[in-house]
Amino acid sequence: MINDEGVICQKCKKPVPLCVCTNAEPLNNKHFVLIIQHPQEQDKELGTAGILCSMLENVHLEIALSRSGLKAILKKDVDPKQWGVLYLGAQKQTPCKAGLYALSRKGNILENTNECLKNLKGIILLDGSWSQAKALWWRNPWLLKTQRLLLVPAQRSLYGKLRKEPRKESISTLEACAQCLDFLGEDPLISSRLTGAFSDMLEKYKLLHQNQSKR
Ligand SMILES: [Zn+2]
Repeated sequence: MINDEGVICQKCKKPVPLCVCTNAEPLNNKHFVLIIQHPQEQDKELGTAGILCSMLENVHLEIALSRSGLKAILKKDVDPKQWGVLYLGAQKQTPCKAGLYALSRKGNILENTNECLKNLKGIILLDGSWSQAKALWWRNPWLLKTQRLLLVPAQRSLYGKLRKEPRKESISTLEACAQCLDFLGEDPLISSRLTGAFSDMLEKYKLLHQNQSKR
């Protein structure tokens, strides 16, 4: 038997035993997904940005601590107001109803949330640990020109106890992406396929570590 534990899948950049890539056509998401990943994000096993990149058609992964703006990343002129960034800081009001909300700069939910969401062309996700994501936020002040978004997740993370996060509502980048696309009115098939792949990956992870501890 070939030991493939150290081999990385070229498509999702995950160790082969955790790869959930298939030959399925990429999912045609209408809202572009931009993932900015902290260069020190080291979670090769449980990280999810690679899965998003391998499954979505309209996606870009930027590994950098700081960039000058959307144009520098996407190599084209876009209106930052039509891009939403998932905001991580504390907000003044936390709605109890699951959904995606547009926030003012002061952190209040905008009255014309639905209108703001309708105008969005893309979403920006900051990928890394809690403190890495916060560093990305502060090192990219151009994010202030984009629309702040607040996601109140519809369900708890599938991570369960596998990943320790300081806040109970913390979910993976993949789950955040899937739920945002859902709330933006995209084909529900996209989020269910993404979440399905994530759950398969977690099963593989558990099996892998069970087997390792038996050795
Ligand atoms: Zn793969």
